Amino acid sequence: MSYSFKTVFITGVANGIGRGIADYFIKKGWRVAGLDINKESGRKLEDKYGRDSFVFFEADVSDENSVKSSVASTLKKFGCLDALVNNAGIASPYNGTSPEDMDIAKWKRVIDVNLTGSMLCVKYAVPALRKSKGSIVNISSTRALQSEKFTEAYSASKGALLSLTHALAVSLAHEVRVNTVLPGWIETRHMQENSSALDSIKYSEEDISQHPAGRVGLPEDIASMVYFLCSDEAGFITGQKFVVDGGMTTKMIYAE
Ligand code: NAD
Repeated sequence: MSYSFKTVFITGVANGIGRGIADYFIKKGWRVAGLDINKESGRKLEDKYGRDSFVFFEADVSDENSVKSSVASTLKKFGCLDALVNNAGIASPYNGTSPEDMDIAKWKRVIDVNLTGSMLCVKYAVPALRKSKGSIVNISSTRALQSEKFTEAYSASKGALLSLTHALAVSLAHEVRVNTVLPGWIETRHMQENSSALDSIKYSEEDISQHPAGRVGLPEDIASMVYFLCSDEAGFITGQKFVVDGGMTTKMIYAE
């Protein structure tokens, strides 16, 4: 059976970049399903878009049964699945702890959400994605490539998504394309539950000018790349990684 619309499943859909991706796909006429632990924000999006276009599941992406039932309910609701965007991610707790003081329970939580959560969604979405010849986009980070001090769990989880991407692209060859987007600094304070207006957010001159693109990134900068990768225009692209960071990682930085 073919459908007159396409459906995307987005994790971490309630706020920030995930919310921006949902908004972008809805404007392009897709149906959006998504999960998040933030029930209030997720329900507000259902009210905003209407349940004919958007369904929300309150779920922790690291919980297998929750992921399984969210994907099953998406298929029941919309009948098809054309794309999966593994966006849910946590950066803390990772900061400020030197490796010898690492709390392994905290390390495991970051890996569970950022990496295992992505694999769980793949596991349950793949049967439907095979049928639709759909695609998967993993949201990594430029921190998969570069680090500040004491970011081991986050950097490792985001680096692993790059490897997961090429492994899946080969395993799902001819059926499902799999790619990764690596965002740099993306402003999300205007995309939270009690958000500030975008034009009230101020940056220092240095924050702006250090970006070769001349500005900090926005959720739509990531959403447009994700959308392209999920579209037929990207039909010859799989197993790849795309940095969207305003040029920051191309700069060579040595102390004077
Ligand atoms: P955010 O905190 O604004 O939004 C993340 C969303 O994920 C939230 O709605 C949160 O409730 C949800 N979430 C957290 N843990 C979850 C869990 N266990 N299960 C389900 N949902 C959960 O973050 P963001 O800045 O929009 O980041 C989105 C993705 O982009 C993350 O993977 C992040 O690592 C990545 N990223 C962000 C930036 C940036 O500058 N904003 C840069 C590089 C990469």
